[in-house]
Amino acid sequence: MQPKATVQGLPIYEPGKPLEEVKRELGLTDVIKLASNENPYGCSQKVWAAIEEEKENLFLYPEGHPSLLAERLADHLGIDSSRLIFGNGSDEIVQMICRAYLSAGDESVLADPTFSRYETGIRVEGAKPIKVPLRDGVHDLDQMLAALTDQTRVVWICNPNNPSGTIVHHHELKAFLEKIPDHVLVVVDEAYAEYVVDSNYPDSLSLLDAHPQMIILRTFSKIYGLAAFRIGYGIMHPDIVQEFHRVREPFNTNRLAQHAALAALEDQAFVERCRTKNYQAIQHVSSVFDEWGIAYYPPHGNFILLDTGHPADDAFKFLLKRGVIVRSGQALGFPTHLRVTLGTSKQNERFLEVYSEYLKSKRSIRSNA
Ligand SMILES: *Cc1c(COP(=O)(O)O)cnc(C)c1O
Repeated sequence: MQPKATVQGLPIYEPGKPLEEVKRELGLTDVIKLASNENPYGCSQKVWAAIEEEKENLFLYPEGHPSLLAERLADHLGIDSSRLIFGNGSDEIVQMICRAYLSAGDESVLADPTFSRYETGIRVEGAKPIKVPLRDGVHDLDQMLAALTDQTRVVWICNPNNPSGTIVHHHELKAFLEKIPDHVLVVVDEAYAEYVVDSNYPDSLSLLDAHPQMIILRTFSKIYGLAAFRIGYGIMHPDIVQEFHRVREPFNTNRLAQHAALAALEDQAFVERCRTKNYQAIQHVSSVFDEWGIAYYPPHGNFILLDTGHPADDAFKFLLKRGVIVRSGQALGFPTHLRVTLGTSKQNERFLEVYSEYLKSKRSIRSNA
């Protein structure tokens, strides 16, 4: 039995290597994972109490649309709760966007490289991905505008971009939205928004009223540290929210995730601490890279994309054998780069230590040649 044509040959998502698997395969006990942009500080302890409390209700279906969470989140963001939809991770909202808005023959414009789930969603619906190369690691908004046609339905802007970590600035996004025709939706994926400290970063919420075609995606997986629960959300015009209610599964976010998110949201002090520590990590790691003469893209999320100058799997394997899991750029469209999640200062030191060994190994090979 063949699947439908649009699914044939689709790449299967390759996640960062799980800790458990690396320990087992390599017989290592002390392994760190800097491969999936998870929060190295875990999540707020308030979450643990919330889950403990909810364990009596596991036999009950969750709310289809978590109304209390929507109210609290809307207050936190300063928007109306009718603008919110939740998903089983923001990954699911990517899927809902494609399901609700893309048909066979439609076009969807995205950067290259960018987050891989957009292309998968587009292709499953039989629509055509139109890829616009990044310029110096940044979305090329002019070329993306130039790629729009009468067939374009959805444009994707990943901000900060995964895997390059770069951002589009507020005035650039605003000018871009002003040129978007009415038949096109613009998805701005802000999975790392809470990490960004650059004052040029878009205040995308302030653009919602003027641009009813914009969908903002955010998640509890990254700075809130709830990746295991799978809960993310979209912010958009209330009419679009209604379309997503038509296509979503009846109980698409689970009860524990809803309560975990509610508790995590209340602990903004935790979020603040993580943002500060992450920024310190960015400054430290980039200053070491500068010292060593290593090229990297300006990081704005909780990860850094650096150029190894060699096929990336080489450094990836070197690090893996020494218990440091990072992401090879070879599967991410950056064949000589590594994407490294910023960890605790101890984890970052360990990464830098092992990476310096890698650099030495390369230099000695060159000098012997
Ligand atoms: C991690 C990530 C997501 C997915 O987050 P989930 O909410 O865990 O599904 C979405 N977009 C980008 C760019 C990401 O890096």
